[in-house]
Amino acid sequence: MMSKTEETTATQKKDEALVWHAMKPYNPNNTLIAQQAKGVWVTDEEGNRYLDAMSGLWCVNIGYGREELAEAAFEQMKKLAYFPLTHSHTPAIELAEKLNEMLGGEYVFFYSNSGSEANEVAFKIARQYHQQKGETNRSKIISRYRSYHGNTLGALAATGQAQRKYKYEPFASGFLHVPPPDSYRSPVDSSKVGREREEVKAIEQMMVWELEETVAAVIMEPIITGGGILMPPEDYLQSVHDVCREKGALLIVDEVICGFGRTGEPFGFMHYGVKPDIITMAKGITSAYLPLSVTAVKKEIYDAFKGTEEYEYFRHVNTFGGNPAACAVALKNLEIMKKEGLFTRAKVVGETMLEMLNMKLAEHPKVGDIRGKGLLIGIELVEDKETKQPIDVQVVNKIIGRCKEKGVIIGKNGATVAGYNNVLTIAPPLIINDEEMSVVTQALTDSIQDIL
Ligand code: PLP
Repeated sequence: MMSKTEETTATQKKDEALVWHAMKPYNPNNTLIAQQAKGVWVTDEEGNRYLDAMSGLWCVNIGYGREELAEAAFEQMKKLAYFPLTHSHTPAIELAEKLNEMLGGEYVFFYSNSGSEANEVAFKIARQYHQQKGETNRSKIISRYRSYHGNTLGALAATGQAQRKYKYEPFASGFLHVPPPDSYRSPVDSSKVGREREEVKAIEQMMVWELEETVAAVIMEPIITGGGILMPPEDYLQSVHDVCREKGALLIVDEVICGFGRTGEPFGFMHYGVKPDIITMAKGITSAYLPLSVTAVKKEIYDAFKGTEEYEYFRHVNTFGGNPAACAVALKNLEIMKKEGLFTRAKVVGETMLEMLNMKLAEHPKVGDIRGKGLLIGIELVEDKETKQPIDVQVVNKIIGRCKEKGVIIGKNGATVAGYNNVLTIAPPLIINDEEMSVVTQALTDSIQDIL
């Protein structure tokens, strides 16, 4: 570590006084004031370099410092910096075309700025869709405990993480929660498949108890990410989709983290053989170089909004959504992902990383489970492998701190899921090379062994 100069100390003081930091009380020892970044490496104010194995907030998928993206934004801003999507512009049209290609057709795209907004749009579209089809009682949205769907009052209502919601009630009404699948804590019961699985039955049962004609939609991530990298059985999403279809509810898949190669496929749901009714995307769509999010909606749903009666169209607008420069950046980002084969790369590198972590850590008495798909990996820490009692979050924080001392940034699902803040998370940029991957696995292994 380099020592602090007077100048950096002054910057830290201003930071502490003026910037309201997300998610935690200010602590100068774990607040990194970033100056620049390239590839997977971030350099702070004092010149220390860190390997960012969390891609910021699971979002810088193609890595930092890609000048092509800066140029795409620059060129677009010179040409057309802004125009609202109450009209249209070419980058928004081209991006919609590209996304539709990736999804295999049939979708129409609504642009916003963040994942939370994309989910709010999804909820509003789902509710209004049923109204327009004459099913006027369908307003309830079902989601899972441990999921995160955003910070706005609707998206937070859909969220199943009590610690994030505490003290912000009341939320938007009509949001219901069921337990998620969790391959570690509820190992897959091989005698039950598909709709017989407890976690699928929980959704079906809730629809029955609530009256199925009152349910508008089910929202889920393909793999719960921020809630602890919870792996579902392979046939779970398909079975949920079948239940939704049978009961007349829409399936919304939140691809805010899982999308754009994170799990080794263009979108996470593609592992599970479904075609969701609505798909929400953000983060990796621009690799976070500019804010942009999208709610992709099946064409047949969109068509229900074409009526001529008053209020039959979608009365939702945001000023910045689909900003031309953000769309141009997204297009360049997707071009680079394709050219560099990053989806496949995430799959291959992720498998190797899982293997390496298993080799080094699986036998450790406090490592309960190591799991993931692509470059989305979780390490669940427990007091005892038999009881699976979660390890205390303070211990998890110490491991994260030790990793940072070793120059590697990892994450956790802490401060989110009551009682289960015990999963270390790893989600590096998809461009991470083999040597950098070894740096991450070594720092993790050493830190876990040091602390536990
Ligand atoms: N959905 C998921 C799965 C997320 O992880 C997040 C953010 O982390 C969101 C939605 C909300 O996205 P944003 O922070 O861009 O509003």
